[in-house]
Amino acid sequence: MAAHHHPIIIAGAGPAGLSLALSLGQSNIPCILFEMEPELTHDLRAGSYHPPTLEMLDELGVTAEMHKTGIKVPRWQIRDRVDGLVAEFDLSLVADETPYPYRLHLEQHRLTPILLDKIRETTSSVDVRFGTEVTGLEPDQDGVTVRLDNGDELRASFFVGCDGARSLARKVIDVEFKGFTWPDRFLVASTTFQLNELGFSGAGYVADPEHWAAIFHVPDTGPPGIWRVAYGTDPEEPEEDILRDERIQERLNIILEHSNPGVDSFELKYRSTYRVHQRVASKFFKGRIAIAGDAAHLNNPMGGLGLNGGVHDAISLGEKFRQIWHDNADFELHFDHYDRQRRPINIKAVQAMSIRNKKLLEERDPDVRRERLDELKNIASDPVKSKAHLMNTSMINSVREAAAVPLEETE
Ligand SMILES: Cc1cc2nc3c(=O)[nH]c(=O)nc-3n(C[C@H](O)[C@H](O)[C@H](O)COP(=O)(O)OP(=O)(O)OC[C@H]3O[C@@H](n4cnc5c(N)ncnc54)[C@H](O)[C@@H]3O)c2cc1C
Repeated sequence: MAAHHHPIIIAGAGPAGLSLALSLGQSNIPCILFEMEPELTHDLRAGSYHPPTLEMLDELGVTAEMHKTGIKVPRWQIRDRVDGLVAEFDLSLVADETPYPYRLHLEQHRLTPILLDKIRETTSSVDVRFGTEVTGLEPDQDGVTVRLDNGDELRASFFVGCDGARSLARKVIDVEFKGFTWPDRFLVASTTFQLNELGFSGAGYVADPEHWAAIFHVPDTGPPGIWRVAYGTDPEEPEEDILRDERIQERLNIILEHSNPGVDSFELKYRSTYRVHQRVASKFFKGRIAIAGDAAHLNNPMGGLGLNGGVHDAISLGEKFRQIWHDNADFELHFDHYDRQRRPINIKAVQAMSIRNKKLLEERDPDVRRERLDELKNIASDPVKSKAHLMNTSMINSVREAAAVPLEETE
């Protein structure tokens, strides 16, 4: 008989909240997930999954479904806007380390329905309620009182804020969200023009002091898919100007200058802008409230690390809850373990890598840029160095490092 009488309550049906709810459901742990939106959100966000994330999602039973529409991207490129291809990294070099030696590209809004369906089809202890916002949390020694926008109040044994960048849970536990916000807004434009015809592999980073970009092939509604081009925009330029068709066409032609696509007008399917932050909460829990995903950490999308890190948090918390719930393990010890496994790795790996990636792409000093690109070229040309680089960039090392953190802190 479980020692905890009230369910675990989660706020947020994004990838982190749904992965955690599915993990809890598969362990038969009672859980209620509240999502303030009336249905799953459909905005254009993450879309790239690294090998360890695919392994974790496989444990939840959803990776095979993701492969039905996802695009396998075994090779990713670093390019110079003017000179073209600089280096290409081939994930088949890590085939002896993971069953998934590639990135899988699938829009976040195509993953979340897969997770939700799996919850509904395979679990009976999880209750997902849309259109309900968590508006207040009152933690005490035995649990958390959770207030909802419909006026209801519920008791939870534990509460997990998977409630995104503006997390209420993070505010309630009153931890710092240290870091910074990049001055430039990112614009993501998706075109039906097939950039593989110009030599792009499914994932590419284009270096240039003004017109750097990240280019990703995503499935959209099905083959041949669409190509997402993310680039920085002048913070002074009005939003309506940067979103204008002619302005986007002009930028795409500049970014793709080396390949000289000779296209007057790229057919554009989606466009959106967003601000990008680098922040990590100073603690991932307090008492019976924990935070995960964007609620706990934010980073720029260069490297496709944000959503992946959120899924890693969720899986880690799911494991802790199994022991807390079924074995009556000490929750503070396990929450502390979660914090020591996930927080330092986010700072050391995710923050460091995503900041380095963005700085590399936008480097203004031509000598420094040349030196860094040459270094990557050199790494890519040597299979041993290349594999070491891929072990970091595909998050295999960071996941292993986190797994090696002992439950009890040693002197
Ligand atoms: C344009 C863009 C591109 C990106 N590309 C990548 C990429 O390629 N790879 C990558 O790994 N990451 C990428 N990211 C980051 C990635 O999208 C996020 O890291 C990811 O969405 C975080 O998931 P989450 O579940 O933590 O939070 P979210 O997806 O933000 O979900 C939080 C949910 O909580 C709900 N909510 C909030 N408050 C409450 C409340 N009080 N009560 C109830 N519900 C609440 C919200 O409505 C929302 O549905 C990108 C982000 C952006 C913006």
